[in-house]
Amino acid sequence: MNVNQSVPPVPSFGQPQPVYPGYHQSSYGGQSGSTAPTIPYGAYNGPVPGYQQTPPQGMSRAPPSSGAPPASTAQAPCGQAAYGQFGQGDVQNGPSSTVQMQRLPGSQPFGSPLAPVGNQPAVLQPYGPPLTSAQVTAQLSGMQISGAVAPAPPSSGLGYGPPTSLASASGSFPNSGLYGSYPQGQAPPLSQAQGHPGIQTSQRSAPSQASGFTPPASGGPRLPSMTGPLLPGQSFGGPSVSQPNHVSSPPPQALPPGTQMTGPLGPLPPMHSPQQSGYQPQQNGSFGPARGPQPNYGSPYPAAPTFGSQSGPQPLPPKRLDPDAIPSPIQVIEDDRNNRGTEPFVTGVRGQVPPLVTTNFLVKDQGNASPRYIRCTSYNIPCTSDMAKQAQVPLAAVIKPLASLPPEEASPYVVDHGESGPLRCNRCKAYMCPFMQFIEGGRRFQCCFCSCINDVPPQYFQHLDHTGKRVDAYDRPELSLGSYEFLATVDYCKNNKFPSPPAFIFMIDVSYNAIRTGLVRLLCEELKSLLDFLPREGGAEESAIRVGFVTYNKVLHFYNVKSSLAQPQMMVVSDVADMFVPLLDGFLVNINESRAVITSLLDQIPEMFADTRETETVFVPVIQAGMEALKAAECAGKLFLFHTSLPIAEAPGKLKNRDDRKLINTDKEKTLFQPQTGAYQTLAKECVAQGCCVDLFLFPNQYVDVATLSVVPQLTGGSVYKYACFQVENDQERFLSDLRRDVQKVVGFDAVMRVRTSTGIRAVDFFGAFYMSNTTDVELAGLDGDKTVTVEFKHDDRLNEESGALLQCALLYTSCAGQRRLRIHNLALNCCTQLADLYRNCETDTLINYMAKFAYRGVLNSPVKAVRDTLITQCAQILACYRKNCASPSSAGQLILPECMKLLPVYLNCVLKSDVLQPGAEITTDDRAYVRQLVTSMDVAETNVFFYPRLLPLTKSPIESTTEPPAVRASEERLSNGDMYLLENGLNLFLWVGASVQQGVVQSLFSVSSFSQITSGLSVLPVLDNPLSKKVRGLIDSLRAQRSRYMKLIVVKQEDKLEMLFKHFLVEDKSLSGGASYVDFLCHMHKEIRQLLS
Ligand SMILES: [Zn+2]
Repeated sequence: MNVNQSVPPVPSFGQPQPVYPGYHQSSYGGQSGSTAPTIPYGAYNGPVPGYQQTPPQGMSRAPPSSGAPPASTAQAPCGQAAYGQFGQGDVQNGPSSTVQMQRLPGSQPFGSPLAPVGNQPAVLQPYGPPLTSAQVTAQLSGMQISGAVAPAPPSSGLGYGPPTSLASASGSFPNSGLYGSYPQGQAPPLSQAQGHPGIQTSQRSAPSQASGFTPPASGGPRLPSMTGPLLPGQSFGGPSVSQPNHVSSPPPQALPPGTQMTGPLGPLPPMHSPQQSGYQPQQNGSFGPARGPQPNYGSPYPAAPTFGSQSGPQPLPPKRLDPDAIPSPIQVIEDDRNNRGTEPFVTGVRGQVPPLVTTNFLVKDQGNASPRYIRCTSYNIPCTSDMAKQAQVPLAAVIKPLASLPPEEASPYVVDHGESGPLRCNRCKAYMCPFMQFIEGGRRFQCCFCSCINDVPPQYFQHLDHTGKRVDAYDRPELSLGSYEFLATVDYCKNNKFPSPPAFIFMIDVSYNAIRTGLVRLLCEELKSLLDFLPREGGAEESAIRVGFVTYNKVLHFYNVKSSLAQPQMMVVSDVADMFVPLLDGFLVNINESRAVITSLLDQIPEMFADTRETETVFVPVIQAGMEALKAAECAGKLFLFHTSLPIAEAPGKLKNRDDRKLINTDKEKTLFQPQTGAYQTLAKECVAQGCCVDLFLFPNQYVDVATLSVVPQLTGGSVYKYACFQVENDQERFLSDLRRDVQKVVGFDAVMRVRTSTGIRAVDFFGAFYMSNTTDVELAGLDGDKTVTVEFKHDDRLNEESGALLQCALLYTSCAGQRRLRIHNLALNCCTQLADLYRNCETDTLINYMAKFAYRGVLNSPVKAVRDTLITQCAQILACYRKNCASPSSAGQLILPECMKLLPVYLNCVLKSDVLQPGAEITTDDRAYVRQLVTSMDVAETNVFFYPRLLPLTKSPIESTTEPPAVRASEERLSNGDMYLLENGLNLFLWVGASVQQGVVQSLFSVSSFSQITSGLSVLPVLDNPLSKKVRGLIDSLRAQRSRYMKLIVVKQEDKLEMLFKHFLVEDKSLSGGASYVDFLCHMHKEIRQLLS
């Protein structure tokens, strides 16, 4: 069946339902009133419970803060610079730039193969003929108009319209007047830049053609001879060009052969001599001409960036690329916001690329799942595996099955088919969806996934209209929407029994460290109020979730908090080798029934252990106990573990300190990411079988082996939080904020996810926090609305352009109230026989999400160097294939990037130089394991900002402006020492203060009279009654609200020693750990591409 149909826009239930409880099924499906739920056609069965409930559970329900954050000038803990969220580093290991460079076989698989499956050799035949020379000539001549606006070229119908050229050239051009002179939809000039090699990005479509040509937010017209780009209003007075702290601008020096990356993009092709070209480089800000060699620029860095393979021709002497002339993430984000942020994204058409994750937009479900649930690396899949192999573009979907939605969008409807259960294909078991085709007058349907013909059960029969569509199609979510839920029957339940409501067990480390830091007291106090905010469903008066409590050090203490008791009772289990639960009755209780006993317990715990001298802890027995308790209660649930130290006490899962930074950059580095013992995986497997999800809150003072301790959370769909050197006064706000969110968020338990595909492709690999006991079922003891599963697809047959490709993600889970449900997401993609169509419909942010997860899993099995090389090779292959098959013929010296992938190099470089793949000296082994684990479940928006942080200038926009200031590129040269900036990446939040900030500004924000009096490392801004203070604090609150974890603020002063931490996040610059600058990486990428093409 052709799934390219555009579903008519107004399903009766498809309207956004701003107020969740407002949907009662009264008018649904033509049934009036609140008829009984068991009617065969009663597609809706009562008010939709579940996730709609989320909004009211949000901030408005948040329990009162248990104490204002201290306004103290909190220094970073443990004496280490306030790399607060990560902890501290210790051993200086030096930059990793001395790694031997060697070319590995391309796409060397680790973990899982990068290369497409199948045994056929890649057939390197071009799909998608290049532009004819006539077309190119027409384009060129059309763009040659100096200083004028060029019309759109007629060839844009090819899908990869005129490439935009990023010329690398020296000399000065009278081009600056062209800023912003290209209105939307008009073609940019194609610049050949006087015979110098350059970079081009090909445009994807007319509306976005303007994208590369509007000036970058931070850019302004400037003279080519200037050494560094200046922000508007930027002062020359400060360290603008050769700042002493400019890590990437060492003094000029001779180039050691083979290491310089700052050269031109390649040897000058003879055919493009300056005399021949004659094209004015009509560049604007983001694609302006490059500078020639500059004193502070043209030289290589003392330590060459650690690229992967570096063979091939030596480049000519250095010509520095202009940072303003290479694709700007800020510009791409801005353009997408402007072009796509105004209209809702309607999902009725197959293969549409959604707006970027950085764009705010509403979604209307008209037959395909919202991009909030599923994003793909490409929305147009090559028809054959040969094409896919040639392009090397990973085919993957990032799926967030329980994503929370903005209040304007309706949560998935719950469909109840009564005892017969959801309708499925008999052969492939796919669930009824809008793409199933009804035939024979409605008596049968053909499966859109496997083509099997199925009978329609009598109770589901409906007549077809003249187009062959069921007349009730728009009355049924499963026939007209991309996402919906089915109530599951008992057949979908474990042991054929409907589940009991889940339970939460709080397991609190009461060893010396936990007591000493004030953690136990803080936590117990918080729980007293937080327990009133457990997730509820369907407007229920109270949560169905029962709670239990355990404390532990070397032994475990269980508490009987039965409502009939006057005081809680403690039962100690010291035989941790063979864990059992000493009490069943009274351990898991209803919070309201046992409130008095629980409150009493939480009051007593800090007192009971106040004088403890016990420093040793166990870990595995604790989880085991929680899991056994759930098993005994015959329910799923979640353990909240609050843990402080390496579990060295004699017990199963006992660990030793095996941290060894000397392993970095050796073949044994992977062991740092691997668990120490198999006991943790074994335990995790048992937990998954029980539906026991584990959330781990870590409060380490030193190495705790996060790589091992996070195994169980990772495999059970849980979360890990880490508060290094926790101190109540400094860290309580962050901890309590994370805890509240974690406890309140809606979770699905005992879940199984299966992704079905139409014939021709299949899901072959999975990334995320889950367990798999076979090759198809993703098992999740718990799954919350923040977690994603990234799925990779491979061809197993030829696809068809007409029918496209279909994905159906089915998640079977137990809701917070104990209801068994199936959530279904469907997505139809296009298929292509021209590679250009693939490149035109890619989404780079999603590609990066996949590639980062692929690489972060790879470090478990391969040296990080090999992992980096694989990424670089794959990126080069992707871009070389485009260049070879899709781009217009042009100078070999030009780097031509597909419009949709023009940010691939900059983003990939951020992945390559991230803490996991290229650690700096300040990053601990635990930090790396922690970050590695976090990224594994991140969605696309999170990986986007994590790898390329947002840098927001604070005083440039009008004080009364309530919108976020436009971001600037993450590079030191974008910083003005007369301004302040907020930098955030979803985990970290910095406020950088320039040394020349006006005194009035300093006073307004910090309540001190001069820059020198600002406390470096400050984590709380004083609450002052002036517009600037309110604005900045408001912005900080707003940034925090956008992220799933609380970001602790760190104030960094220019030139201060803390600045080093901040600079770590200026990802376009060369990093101290040896990571390449954006410009250098682009040059390197170009070299790799040229090598592949030659
Ligand atoms: Zn089927």
